[in-house]
Amino acid sequence: MIHETDVLVVGSGPGGLAAAIAAARAGAEVTLVERFGCFGGNITVVGVEGMAWYRHEKTVEANGLGREFEERASEMGAATPESQSLSYEIDSEGFKVVADRLVEEAGVHPMLHRLFVSPVMEDDTIVGIITESKAGREAILAKRVIDATGDADVAHRAGAPTAKTPKEEMMAASVMFHMAGVDKRAFLRGVSEDPQTYRDWAGGGEWNIVTTGKEDDMFSPFIRKPFQRAIEEGLIPPHLNTIAGTWGAVHDSGELTYMNLIHLDGCDGTDPRDLTHFEIEGRRQALLAVEALRRHMPGCEAARLRNFGMSIGIRDTRKIDAAYNMTEQDVMGEARFEDSIGIYPEFIDGYGILILPTTGRYFQVPYRTLLPKGVKGLLVAGRAIGGDKVSHAATRNMSCCAVTGQGAGIAAAVSLKANTTLDEVDVAEIQAELDRQGVRYT
Ligand SMILES: Cc1cc2nc3c(=O)[nH]c(=O)nc-3n(C[C@H](O)[C@H](O)[C@H](O)COP(=O)(O)OP(=O)(O)OC[C@H]3O[C@@H](n4cnc5c(N)ncnc54)[C@H](O)[C@@H]3O)c2cc1C
Repeated sequence: MIHETDVLVVGSGPGGLAAAIAAARAGAEVTLVERFGCFGGNITVVGVEGMAWYRHEKTVEANGLGREFEERASEMGAATPESQSLSYEIDSEGFKVVADRLVEEAGVHPMLHRLFVSPVMEDDTIVGIITESKAGREAILAKRVIDATGDADVAHRAGAPTAKTPKEEMMAASVMFHMAGVDKRAFLRGVSEDPQTYRDWAGGGEWNIVTTGKEDDMFSPFIRKPFQRAIEEGLIPPHLNTIAGTWGAVHDSGELTYMNLIHLDGCDGTDPRDLTHFEIEGRRQALLAVEALRRHMPGCEAARLRNFGMSIGIRDTRKIDAAYNMTEQDVMGEARFEDSIGIYPEFIDGYGILILPTTGRYFQVPYRTLLPKGVKGLLVAGRAIGGDKVSHAATRNMSCCAVTGQGAGIAAAVSLKANTTLDEVDVAEIQAELDRQGVRYT
């Protein structure tokens, strides 16, 4: 047993990072455990830089830690204005340092390079975790645990019921990459001479979407034509018509980042055999995409691969069966809940649906959706919360993961202060602390 803490957060993506910082700011002693060498989850590990590409003039949102991540990144030179929205594109490398500073300033105890492998249970209550690291097998005890692993690893191993989307319906995995050596002016000239819209997404795999119609003529930083030409000339095999997607930011230094072009269907992110196969297959496809861009995308003639994400990007694995599971009707019908811990705009992106929050519509996220059945002392934050497929197409987004993370962190801290269990914590007290931390929940 190497460490004891009040609130233990496992996983440090937008969900876990927000949970740890919020719990610490609410007065708890907090420890943040992460399997890799940096905080940030998909932002830093995979290279997902689009924190709020949905934001338009009328978008209404929670403005808590998710917004702070963007603004702090911008202040620290780790973000640039995003091409299609009123938001910042986060720099995935720079955000490693942004996250370090946020963790340090909040007084969170950092524990990197530790993989959660097992819960420590007293009957049906979780009282700590076992980690594996270069130091071996060690225990950390905690009064409250927040599972922000994205895959509900803690909830699952603790015996809480979880479910996965059938593999053939899972959102695709992606190997992400960044490029160097791009002529920025020529690239942007090419984009403005042949601007793509959301309507252009139609036509292959992950990018076949249904919209409300209002999205169709809006600009999207989308690329498909170079890959179609590469198929016609035999560079890319015809079955890889799934290669298409969005670019993130193009920099004066010639870097073209957040290349979200490789979509790998049938990858279960909790199965290491799939992860092995698709890491290798994804890299193979990425090199074909780079060559197609060099041949057919203005400004990319002298470009090369700069780096892959540290890991394949996984969108869709286990979800908990929560005290309340959110539904399609909730996220598309402006749901309201008495136990709201934050609002999220009507931004649905996944399972073939794209709705952008251009109208001011939004829904509330209930606290109960973080509460797993069957295990006490545990909350789940981020993309593994309870809900159906379409609700996850909204709540999986990083700024919504920050909403559920901030709510979970505050709830854990409040329950400790009030000496109540997590399922009996007074929601009014959580909401008072949300107010203090500047989160909108009504
Ligand atoms: C390719 C791709 C593109 C995407 N594009 C966008 C986008 O443009 N905008 C958007 O909002 N969302 C996007 N998403 C979705 C979004 O990135 C995720 O849904 C979101 O990051 C989930 O946040 P999280 O905090 O739940 O988990 P994650 O970001 O996955 O973080 C989980 C953390 O837990 C750690 N961890 C996992 N297991 C363990 C363990 N056993 N022990 C210790 N640590 C562990 C991981 O290392 C990681 O740091 C994209 C996803 C992918 C894969």
